[in-house]
Amino acid sequence: MMELDDSQLERYARHVVLPEIDEEGQLKLLGSRVLVIGAGGLGSPLLLYLAAAGVGHIGVVDDDVVDLSNLQRQVVHDTTRVGSPKVESARARLKEVNPEVVLEPHHTRLTPANALDLIGDYDLVADGSDNFATRYLVNDASYLAGRPLVSAAIMRFDGQLSVFRAHQGHGEDGKANPCYRCLFGEQPPGDPKQSCADVGVLGALAGAIGSLQAIEVVKELLGIGRSMSGRLMLYDALESSFRTVKVSADPDCPLCGENPRIRQLGDVDYGLAEAVCAAE
Ligand code: ZN
Repeated sequence: MMELDDSQLERYARHVVLPEIDEEGQLKLLGSRVLVIGAGGLGSPLLLYLAAAGVGHIGVVDDDVVDLSNLQRQVVHDTTRVGSPKVESARARLKEVNPEVVLEPHHTRLTPANALDLIGDYDLVADGSDNFATRYLVNDASYLAGRPLVSAAIMRFDGQLSVFRAHQGHGEDGKANPCYRCLFGEQPPGDPKQSCADVGVLGALAGAIGSLQAIEVVKELLGIGRSMSGRLMLYDALESSFRTVKVSADPDCPLCGENPRIRQLGDVDYGLAEAVCAAE
């Protein structure tokens, strides 16, 4: 069996000392491949914590460049990188955080044409995208590729987080695992008048929810603790309150239900061109 070398034992000492992780779990993290959708508000803490944790191979999909208005919450980027592709900015920062980790930049937009190939190359997907079209596409592609999805969203002062494992059928409690569509139903129609810049968000909210998302990614990779599949966490920053609600699979879900209509990504018009800003 492989072992951690001396410098790894030191770098990851606070993980290795946890019986739930130990040297074996740390080696598992080093051998894991995670795809992060979006290097924005949620992607920033997510990428930083996954790299620091020693998740060995991290892919990141984002077609955008760093804008000055991003820096209020997108802490993986800094002022010197305004105008650079976000995936390159993130790669440079993560190399400083942990040179052991490989960051694979995908400077492109996730589309029905590339989603299955991209997602199929990783063990798990973490969605921090900023629009509904991409969220539905990530859900469908993760389900069809058979990959667990850790999904988070933020808007204004509210955050939400869940894990989707519908491709695996039933969870440990014997209940069917829901997918994103089971919870949120039909994709909202595009509204070209609303742009992402119109929607405000408290900067530190991205840090809070993106960090919780990183925790769930590590739990899913290691299979420790209680999975958030079948549960949705809601955070209200103005109320300073967390709420976790149970969510169930929809037997009529067009993707994971009993009579699925979506059998391939080409079956859906995601409307990526007029994507509505959801959150990130
Ligand atoms: Zn479903």
